[in-house]
Amino acid sequence: MSSKGEIIGAEARPKKKLAVVTCMDTRLVNFLNEKMGLERGDAKVIKNAGNIITEDALRSLVVAIYCLGAEKIAIVGHTDCGMAGADTAEIKKEMIRRGANPYFTTDFDAWIGKMDDEEENVKRGVELVKNHPAIPKDVEVEGLIIDIVTGEITKLV
Ligand SMILES: [Zn+2]
Repeated sequence: MSSKGEIIGAEARPKKKLAVVTCMDTRLVNFLNEKMGLERGDAKVIKNAGNIITEDALRSLVVAIYCLGAEKIAIVGHTDCGMAGADTAEIKKEMIRRGANPYFTTDFDAWIGKMDDEEENVKRGVELVKNHPAIPKDVEVEGLIIDIVTGEITKLV
């Protein structure tokens, strides 16, 4: 436990000292890792709808950094994300139709992670992570976007 990354066994640590936050989009399965050159054992991958930096994403990043030796974070959005411009009014209507209650939270749009633009969302995520009090300043944070069709990856920040 003398230096960072020695709390959990070596097998679980990401070989590339990388943690990725990306979208749960089905088209990224076996695609993003290939395009990023990631193999089994290389990186921690945190996924959610719209690669939003939620409290839970931050929690996983903190574990990746302090327990698993991650030194670099990549937030990876993608083109044609379903969360961009998601019709939250429609989601709420459907919830009600199916007997659920969307009013359990005062701000459903924020809770669901409504966003308007994939690139802006990635940039916002990078700022959030960089400025979060739990994230050390020696961790590198970058924002990328992958073209969901061609797989071309562009660095945004
Ligand atoms: Zn998406």
